[in-house]
Amino acid sequence: MNPVRVRFAPSPTGYLHIGGLRTALYDFLFARSQGGKFILRIEDTDQSREVEGAVENLISSLHQLGIDFDEGPGLGGPFEPYIQSQRLQLYRQHAQQLLDSGNAYHCFCTPETLGEMREQQQARGEFVKYDRRCLSLSPQDVAQRLQAGEKHVIRLKMPDNRRFVFQDIIRGQVEMEASQSDDQVLIKSDGFPTYHLAATVDDHYMQISHVIRGEEWLSSTPKHLWLYECFGWETPLWVHLPLILNADRSKLSKRMNDVSVQSYLAKGYLKEALVNFVALLGWHSADDRELYSLSELSEAFGLERVNKAGAVFDLTKLDWMNGYYLRNLPLETIAERSKVYFAEMGFDTSDSEKLMRVLAAARERCTLLPELVEYSRMFYAQNQLADAEEAMLNNDISQKVIRWFSDALSALSDWPAETLNNLAKSGISELQVKAKDFYTPLRLALIGQAHGPDLPTTLAILGREESLRRLGASIKPQ
Ligand code: GLU
Repeated sequence: MNPVRVRFAPSPTGYLHIGGLRTALYDFLFARSQGGKFILRIEDTDQSREVEGAVENLISSLHQLGIDFDEGPGLGGPFEPYIQSQRLQLYRQHAQQLLDSGNAYHCFCTPETLGEMREQQQARGEFVKYDRRCLSLSPQDVAQRLQAGEKHVIRLKMPDNRRFVFQDIIRGQVEMEASQSDDQVLIKSDGFPTYHLAATVDDHYMQISHVIRGEEWLSSTPKHLWLYECFGWETPLWVHLPLILNADRSKLSKRMNDVSVQSYLAKGYLKEALVNFVALLGWHSADDRELYSLSELSEAFGLERVNKAGAVFDLTKLDWMNGYYLRNLPLETIAERSKVYFAEMGFDTSDSEKLMRVLAAARERCTLLPELVEYSRMFYAQNQLADAEEAMLNNDISQKVIRWFSDALSALSDWPAETLNNLAKSGISELQVKAKDFYTPLRLALIGQAHGPDLPTTLAILGREESLRRLGASIKPQ
């Protein structure tokens, strides 16, 4: 068996999206689980669709998630360069080789001619494909038109009456008729290769063992198999990943959904949750375990457990996972990751012990990182009371409770939870108030809202000085 070498081969036409992340992650996990190599290849042969900064965004997004390459642009490797626009000569040589062996031909048809052809075929209800009218041009004709500088492309001549049978690691045996494949354009009129030629040539020379790609490429596989056959090359193993679907089982669309990986990170999803969630979009373990770190995934992952059926992108599950990681990652990690959101709100988190106490309480009740900050507002800022709350805080019973509690607290040298709970109980009975009329004014005074963590936690977070200061500030002069 050849050593495992897999590649992630994005076109730099946008930002890394969930589908791209899933492919890259499966490549990475498969390479790591097999002790193989993971290669990044940039497929930038459609220059009109190129987006500036897309390659850098892609590499840094993956790196941020812990997914790194062994070979690729900027990393080097035995098969440099890894950017297709720097390998044009190689593709042209191979197109020439196909022309010479009669497996490719020049086509001079204009876009208008091709448009008419398509319309007529559609009107007749036929499979839309090039009708090969340029295949019958004489060599002299072709030479003359090339000489005259006429615009042209180079097409692959697919075999007639041929059934392609191949094994896909996920789908098993797949069979397709050559008649269902177009005579694919290999070199476009701008001299650049199409995906089909460039990817095939590169997969061969980069010694790719497994082509792991989206299901949308399954129907192109006969063209690729034919290219391998024309060149006399051994084929890689094929792995077509299932589609990612919306909840209504329609194809996850970039237009309809927020699918950019960066936007999920910016919204405050944790990388651990995103990676774990995306890993399960099409793969599951034998025991259906759901929670995995990246290194656990590297051990557990295998292509044989990837499903054929489309995988539903379930945001509720991502939220659930994020909540899990928010509660279970080390508190220091959560503090580090939420720093930017605290800074955005202008909260002073320089007291790191207070921050840890706040986060320990907050993470039990939140799903996303920015929610931690929102929840923490009561401990870092003075909440503005609504009129009804203000009135409640100032009524006689509330004032009596706050004064009593403030005095009792000042008299205690330290405030263990049990002591505080007992104190509250004796306050309720001594002042003869309902529990609600005891706790609510204290909360309003301490955190500026009627709901929050329990009293001992609130006091522990605020600390002695700040608690007594806040209580004192709510006491009206008599
Ligand atoms: N450049 C192709 C894409 O972005 C790569 C497909 C493949 O992995 O072969 O879809």
